Amino acid sequence: MSHWYQLDADAVVEQIHTDPERGLTSAEAARRLQRDGPNELETSSGRSLWRLLWEQLSAPLVVMLIVAAVISTVVGDTRDAIAILMIVIFNAVLGFRQERKAETAMAALKKLAVPTVRVRRDGHVQECSLESLVRGDVVVLEAGNRIPADGRLLESANLQVQESALTGESTPVEKQATSVLSDDDLPLGDRSNMVYHSTTVTRGRGSFVVTETGMSSEIGHIARMLQSVEAEATPLQKRLAQLGKALGAGAITIALIIAILGLVRGEPLRQMLLTAVSVAVAAVPEGLPAVVTIALALGAERMLKRHALMRHLPAVETLGSVTTICSDKTGTLTENRMTVTTASLFAEELATVDLEEFSNKVPHDDGLWLLLLGGALCNDAVRGGDGEALGDPTETALIVAAAHQGLDKPTLDQAWPRLSEVPFDSERKRMTTCHRCDAAVWTRRWQRLVPPDTQAVVFSKGALHSLLEIADAVWADGQIRPLDATLRQQIDSAHDRLAGQGLRVLAVAFRPAATPPTDLEQHLVLVGLMSLLDPARAEAKQAIHLCQTAGIRAVMITGDHPLTARHIAKDLGIATGELVSGQELSRMPVDQLETAAEKTSIYARVSPEDKLKIVQALQRQGQIVAMTGDGVNDAPALKQANIGVAMGITGTDVAKEAADIVLQDDNFASIVAAVQEGRVIYDNIRKFIKYTLAGNVGQLWLLLIAPFLGMPLPLVPIQILWINLIADGLIALALSFEPAEDRVMERPPYRPGERIFSRGLGADIFWVGLLLGLVLLGVAQTYWSQNDPAWQTMVFSTLAFSRIALSQAVRSSEPLFRIGLGSNLRLLGAVLTTFVLQLMVIYLPVCQSFFSTVALPGRELAIAMLLGTLSFWALEIKKAWSRRSAIS
Ligand code: ATP
Repeated sequence: MSHWYQLDADAVVEQIHTDPERGLTSAEAARRLQRDGPNELETSSGRSLWRLLWEQLSAPLVVMLIVAAVISTVVGDTRDAIAILMIVIFNAVLGFRQERKAETAMAALKKLAVPTVRVRRDGHVQECSLESLVRGDVVVLEAGNRIPADGRLLESANLQVQESALTGESTPVEKQATSVLSDDDLPLGDRSNMVYHSTTVTRGRGSFVVTETGMSSEIGHIARMLQSVEAEATPLQKRLAQLGKALGAGAITIALIIAILGLVRGEPLRQMLLTAVSVAVAAVPEGLPAVVTIALALGAERMLKRHALMRHLPAVETLGSVTTICSDKTGTLTENRMTVTTASLFAEELATVDLEEFSNKVPHDDGLWLLLLGGALCNDAVRGGDGEALGDPTETALIVAAAHQGLDKPTLDQAWPRLSEVPFDSERKRMTTCHRCDAAVWTRRWQRLVPPDTQAVVFSKGALHSLLEIADAVWADGQIRPLDATLRQQIDSAHDRLAGQGLRVLAVAFRPAATPPTDLEQHLVLVGLMSLLDPARAEAKQAIHLCQTAGIRAVMITGDHPLTARHIAKDLGIATGELVSGQELSRMPVDQLETAAEKTSIYARVSPEDKLKIVQALQRQGQIVAMTGDGVNDAPALKQANIGVAMGITGTDVAKEAADIVLQDDNFASIVAAVQEGRVIYDNIRKFIKYTLAGNVGQLWLLLIAPFLGMPLPLVPIQILWINLIADGLIALALSFEPAEDRVMERPPYRPGERIFSRGLGADIFWVGLLLGLVLLGVAQTYWSQNDPAWQTMVFSTLAFSRIALSQAVRSSEPLFRIGLGSNLRLLGAVLTTFVLQLMVIYLPVCQSFFSTVALPGRELAIAMLLGTLSFWALEIKKAWSRRSAIS
């Protein structure tokens, strides 16, 4: 049956054998899952193992090596051929392992990005994973949800869905559960009682019964990919790829020069060909792309441990440059554990009561009873299976408060069933519902409270200023009194006193009516105020302090009242100087906002649209902005920000999709942790580049200059390849595990888009490379001129030891003795292993014949080791020197 839209909801439910109220049973859902398979869209999977292996073997340099091996075999030198092939295989295995690691890490991230779904099963609402959704499940929808399957609507309240993923139409369409459409061949976009997989709810609420899942859904037919962590190259990766190409071209030129010089000197052609290829292989840091990917993936993994999920890898680099973090208050800077602490009622004297004192008894005061009733009825939170209230924390707090006073939400919902509503949105800052009043609720109290002809009652709750727009009377001392100036002032000052204590203040209003009104939001009667306490997060306080030392400004953006905002900001240590309210913001011309943005750290009573303006103003000031968000309307600001940060718990699917990072714990501290990890990753990539290029440059100097000094080639091709293998291998990989430097959050953010070689990196590579080249040339010249048969082995070993030692010098901007050898055990292991391998290559007879080495006497070995540490010491002295000049 494909035309579900032609049936009414009951008929669909019947055909699919489900229960709209209770949903499926878990057992039935499991059976259907078995029968129909998971609700998954086939995505283009990652690269296969063979593909990865093939990519390794087909890299241009590897092909050159293989050709060289073939030539060696043809001219009869099988030993060289075997050695080269071994190296090729090692290289491929290593590269393969690195790529694989990067792929697995990415795949793991992808899995985590999949959202959960709220379904009705076994009679109550629960969360289930997207894949376990089956035909017949009853899914509950609210604004911001990504619709997880195709289905027929059962309920809808102001429901609007954006279906561009399917229809290409970007304007949201209205959905209506009650409509039944007769047309035989209605286009998807017009099926107003259906919802479709991968489209998003932009407004309202609803529920639907799943009719199709996975590949049988409409989106499945066009096989579009859902939810992917984008694996596009980061700007740094792109720049490095360019660098790699430039180095490749340079290396080939140098290789040719070396080969021609050799030929002129009368070396055999085959030998020179092989040398040329080896030089080219040695000069190009082939490991670079893989190491960068691994550093990024490892970093993303570390961030995940600290509760920040990267959805968009290029953002990792931007993180290190973030200068301003704009954060929502509720839930991110505060705990989002709201509790209603006091209720205030209006009378001659304003009465504020501590609700704790009333626990577990129905309040005697009619006003208080009405206040709690309104808070619980005008409320979308629900009771889950375990009795826990599920939903928006502000609303769950109201339900809990009502329950404490004996007013149980499910019972209330039955007695006052909801007829219609105007949903909450952060712009209006209120929510209104209309309920039927049956005779069943005509208790004596209710009779006392409402006129006898009352058939319906409207409740509204929200920010006080918002309710004052629609209220013209006040409930005071059991009577409805017009809202006059004195009362208004009394209410305002009560509100400000509470907000000034950092409490979120919600007002509740009601209106009894003979018939359900068409316009719900007029002529309301203000009942009272409820104050909610939401404590500041302790971690957020520390994180804000860390931001200050790291040159990052923390900015609070909240929908709450300025007084509430200021109190909490002060608590957290955010600069409380300038505060801009949403109203002021909307009146400000662009240039004034720009100036204000420079100084403002608190924006209060703003709506999500204002966030976009704030981000843009900050960006025009040259700031690199991270911005948090959770709702549908936050998506544009999240996209505009340099780093969009979505809330994992309270965030809507739409916000998550627009974001670069999803915070799994909605915690501000996790953003700062992500920034820190971003800096570490970038640092580690730079360390690797320094390490590998300085070594390569030294080696090139040696190979290029030696012929001019009249020497034969100081390294044989297989030695060059070996050095390349040890340098790009274990050690390179271990460098990406380098832990954060102590002072990583004590320096200002990086300039965005700074050149890779900036901040002294290029200069270091140049001079360390030159020094290494000179040392090697010195060794070569000395031993060669003495006709020592071990001269090449000496050069080879000095080079190998130098590269090993260099890895310890590039680890930190701090001197090595400060961070200690043991702070990166992987690197220590890699260094020791490489060292032992090098000894084996020198001393094991079978290796000697392959690598053309001879056993070095103890004295020579000691000299090689000592000279090998020269560039290490040079770098260490430079670090100590710059530290001293920084301090003095
Ligand atoms: P913040 O902006 O600090 O992170 P928030 O995102 O919860 O907080 P909004 O949801 O935009 O802010 O709420 C703005 C205002 O709307 C609140 O100060 C409160 O007065 C009111 N409000 C919040 N939630 C509800 C609700 N469920 N029903 C009615 N009014 C609400």
